[in-house]
Amino acid sequence: MRNAGLGGWPARRAQMTPSRPAFVFRDRTLSYAEIHERTTRLAGRLRRAGVTAGDRVAYLGPNHVAFAETMFATHKLGAVFVPLNSRLAAPEIAYMLADSGASVLIHAPECAESVRALTDIPSLTAVVSHDLYDEWLARGPDTPIDVPVTLDDVALILYTSGTTGRPKGAMLTHGNLVWNCYNLLVGVDLRSDEVTLVSAPLFHVAALNQTLLPTFLKGGCSVVMPSWDVERCYDLIEKHRVTWMFGVTTMFAAFAGSPRWQSADLSSLRSLMAGGAPVPPSLIRTYQDRGLVFCQGYGLTETAPGATFLEPAQSTRKAGSAGVPVFFADVRVVRPDLTDTAPGEPGEVLIQGPNVTPGYWNNPQATRAAIHEDGWFRSGDIATRDEDGYLYIVDRAKDMYISGGENVYPAEVEGALAEHPAVAEAAVVGVPDERWGEVGHAFVVPRPDTHVTGGELRDFLLDRLAKYKIPRYVDLVDDLPRTGSGKVRKWDLRTRARP
Ligand code: AMP
Repeated sequence: MRNAGLGGWPARRAQMTPSRPAFVFRDRTLSYAEIHERTTRLAGRLRRAGVTAGDRVAYLGPNHVAFAETMFATHKLGAVFVPLNSRLAAPEIAYMLADSGASVLIHAPECAESVRALTDIPSLTAVVSHDLYDEWLARGPDTPIDVPVTLDDVALILYTSGTTGRPKGAMLTHGNLVWNCYNLLVGVDLRSDEVTLVSAPLFHVAALNQTLLPTFLKGGCSVVMPSWDVERCYDLIEKHRVTWMFGVTTMFAAFAGSPRWQSADLSSLRSLMAGGAPVPPSLIRTYQDRGLVFCQGYGLTETAPGATFLEPAQSTRKAGSAGVPVFFADVRVVRPDLTDTAPGEPGEVLIQGPNVTPGYWNNPQATRAAIHEDGWFRSGDIATRDEDGYLYIVDRAKDMYISGGENVYPAEVEGALAEHPAVAEAAVVGVPDERWGEVGHAFVVPRPDTHVTGGELRDFLLDRLAKYKIPRYVDLVDDLPRTGSGKVRKWDLRTRARP
């Protein structure tokens, strides 16, 4: 095949289903033919801005049709798309732009302030606001562009924080994305008349590759929500007769908690999928009792993202399980010596398959730590497996918690706190929260003869980190509990944390 990459998708769809709606965004409908034309013009302007195969093009903003267009235009040039979380603080964005060596940044108006604060990113040659973007689309050349790539070429770099050091750019190849689409289509059976609600943020691979891309592949229609809003979600489902939606657990909990839950017309929904964080069996039951088909997926950015899938039909018999491996992937649960655990025995989840990342951008050390020589990816999640091979995620080996669907790595927050002159040391843990799943709780030991308050420390963090990473609670303490070997006893802190 001349071009195996996503860059060829708009042209192929425009040929097969030119007039079918590809996207609905803020009441505007764009057909597949229009998307092909617009992404061709955009690719032409990106090329004029100097972008060639292998270069990196970043996008910063909440959900918008421009996100998808920038991605396809970038891929038409054989370049690499770098979606950035629009909730990040300016120093975090600057780091990711510099690390990826992005030459173009396209950004939404909501992010203009963060973009103004960016200074001195040597690789960046063009910063494109949405006004300029519209002009590019209107005046871009309409000469078709289709730079061939292979399935092994990198399509996306997605930044994830980690338990040590700076955020890492997980690379996903065109093949990783395509195989995940197959896995989803096998599990959920999306159709060509699918109407998909894109309600989670597209800068996370789950929204992109469990909703928008598989829908595009099948020729369905993606209704793109700018940001998550329960009422708007009901409105859009009813108005567009939505058939399929993916969301993180906190979104589905809020949706079912709305006063409209019983009265709304949800008859168009064929299936729903929750993932990204543990999904309580009680939540699954709430949806099933309402007559809805509700499945669960487990996965990670590095697995593009699906690794296991729980069929709706099994969700009662296997309540609490994250399901079985997706069709084209293998999953093992292993002991520290890498031997397989017995049924019921907890161990780390390893994943291997064509959906698994080849590694982290320019970071061989992190790649070696995450992927074994024989290709098994280490998830850092702890699971048990039952006699039938169903996985139950029971814990995390990695120091991370999930707040409203966003991963927070305490090491990153602790590192930012340590930059404050009054902080001697700090430890952060995730504590349960009814609305967000988990929130952060920081324990800070101040330096002698200094005075600082929890509020001041939170303000200090706000300039450095995304809001969702700022601990809800900050306690000033005399010392931190430690193990014999000097490690902070985080489980001890969790029990001390506020309710
Ligand atoms: P991300 O890389 O942002 O997609 O986050 C991946 C992490 O989210 C995993 O390593 C798990 O800790 C967590 N996660 C995702 N799906 C599930 C699930 N169904 N059940 C429990 N944890 C999950």
